[in-house]
Order: sequence, then structure tokens, then C-alpha cells
Amino acid sequence: MNCRSCMSDVSEQIDFGTHPISHKLWDSESEVAMSHTVRLGHCFACGLTQLMDEVPEDVLYAEYDPSGQKHQPHAEELSKWIENKGLTVEIGCNDGGFLELLKRRGFDSLLGIEPSDTADIAMGKGFPVIKDYFGLGFWQRPSKQAKCVIAREVLEHVPDVNGFMRGISEMLDEGGKVLIEVPDFEHPLRNGDYSVIWEEHLSYFTQHILENLLMKHGFRVLRWKQFDYSGRVMAVLAEKVDCAMPYYLIDDSLINGYVGLWPTFLENVHRYFQNRYDVSFSVYGAGCRACSLLNFADIAKYFHFVVDDNSKRIGKFFPAGGMEILNSPGDSDVCFLAVNEENERKVIERNPDFKGRFTSLFPPEGEMYA
Ligand SMILES: [Zn+2]
Repeated sequence: MNCRSCMSDVSEQIDFGTHPISHKLWDSESEVAMSHTVRLGHCFACGLTQLMDEVPEDVLYAEYDPSGQKHQPHAEELSKWIENKGLTVEIGCNDGGFLELLKRRGFDSLLGIEPSDTADIAMGKGFPVIKDYFGLGFWQRPSKQAKCVIAREVLEHVPDVNGFMRGISEMLDEGGKVLIEVPDFEHPLRNGDYSVIWEEHLSYFTQHILENLLMKHGFRVLRWKQFDYSGRVMAVLAEKVDCAMPYYLIDDSLINGYVGLWPTFLENVHRYFQNRYDVSFSVYGAGCRACSLLNFADIAKYFHFVVDDNSKRIGKFFPAGGMEILNSPGDSDVCFLAVNEENERKVIERNPDFKGRFTSLFPPEGEMYA
């Protein structure tokens, strides 16, 4: 396949196998779910790590449940990165949560773009929303250019990365700003964390890869910051300029190390479980990262059930091993926390009566990796 960013050849790095869609919980333990192939590829020309297979958007995002929306402690800070200088557009505005923050700060010309039905919630809050997918040629109103475009947790889902960036450039006035937030892939790369790979994220950005992409499309980076949220995310604020900018050279050693360690990772986690036949294991958190890891590493068979705090998930079945989702870790001996680092302590405090022990599911913490 051709690279989503530079069109060079992408070479296959890890074949994670064929799996059901992570966010679609099952109604029975033996549900016949649609499955798809997950192969991680890498472009050694521009450095972008990417999935080589795409689940069609209308299949992947059909019946999407927005109740998984998490509290975003860093959103308030990000809202202060931009100023109210005219039309501000948020691509992937979701339920309008970030638009609300901006409105509270006095922004008076806001527009959302959101393809899913969560757009209705944003509209219900009084925001104008265009209910559609965004890309090149989207902006057909040259008389009104935007002063700022926001895309938080969107770019990593987009099949046509260049079309998306050019679409943003089309919308913006010269000197206009773009605020982009994506998961930071450098942290998992350095920690051998394979749970962050999932079918919804087609591209995996490090700081330099993201900045290179912005520069290629005529943006000058003004500020950049990492936040401990949902694993780890990074935000970049950039300004549209009319000159080409230099590029970072990308070091291949990180991706080579990540790919090279996968067979050892598999060997180690299977050895951990195979030595503990008499122990009962559970997972806390029926989210996509747990689903990815359990399926990719083929370790769901060692677990008895999954625990989740979201009442809508209780009684459903997890798309890894078809395990039932319960509301408590019960009498399991070891409960693997599959929640983000910042929430692990909260889960432990919420379950004072649990007699077993908690440990992390995601690398590098957790007794599975000791
Ligand atoms: Zn490339």
C-alpha cells in the first residue's frame, strides 16, 4: 500500500491477526461478529506508522455509542491556547463539549463538524453543526474564512491524511491557527505498549511526525504539549504561513525496536499465564485497549470475566474471548486494570472489599511484564 502521508511504499511490520471490532460489545458469548485484519505498517520514507487495513467508516462507526465520552481535564487549558478572532470551527466536535468551553470564554462565532449522531447533542446545545465527514473540498464558502480550526482526536482516524490537512488549509485565512490533538505514539513505542493499536486509529504520530506533516502543509508550529490523558496525548498549535519549512529527520530505531520486541512480548505473557493454571484472572475495563491487547496477544483464554463501571455494558459480552461483563471483580485472584493510568487509583479505592490483587494490564507496569 501507499503511505497515507507521502505516498511511498508502506512495509508490513506486525500482523496482529483477524479480530472483531473492539467497541461493539456482543449480546451473547458466541456472537458471530464481523472480523477484520489488523496489520501494522511503517513508511520508512516519512516515518509514519499506520494500519494497512481499513474497516469501512459506515461499518466501523455505525451505532456508535457516545456514552464512552470521558472527562477531559486538559480541555480547559487547551481552550486558552486560542483567541476569539473570528470564525472558529471544530472538526469532530462530538457532543459540543469543547465548543461549550469556548463559548464560556466569549467565543461568539462557532461552528461544529461532526458525522455521527452525537452532532444532534451539540445542536441541541445551540451550536450550528454540519453533519458530515470532513476532507479536501469540504469548505465551499470562500467568502467566510475561518480564523481557527480545531481537530481533537480526529486526525488519527482519517484515511486521507493529506486531504484532511489541505481541507483545513482551505478553510483558514492566512495567519489562521490550527489546534490539533492526537494520541502520542512515542510513549507506547518506548514502552512496548501494543494495546494502543486499534482499528479506529489508522495513523500513529510522534511529535516530529506530526510537526513534519504540519510543515509540509504550510503551517508553522507555535506550541506543543503532552497531556496524561487516555494513555498520553499531544496537542499542537500551528499558524498558516506562506513559506515551506524544514523537516525533522526521523530515526527508525524506535519503530524497529517496537516491532522487534513483539515476539518476545508474546512469549513472556504466555509464560506468565501458563505457569498459573490455578489462579483466576479478571480484567477491569471493557475498553478498546484491553480488547486489542487480549486479542492481539491471544490471551483472552486465560481470563474468566471482564469488569466495568458503565451500567450500559453490564451483562454484555466482550469482543475478546466472548467474556461476560460484570460489575465487580468478585472473587477473582488477580484483576488486571485496563483503565488509563490516571484512573487506576480511583478503581482501587472504589473496590475496598476486593480480596485479590490489582495489577496493570498495559505495559510497562503490571506483574505480567515483571
Ligand atoms: Zn510516508
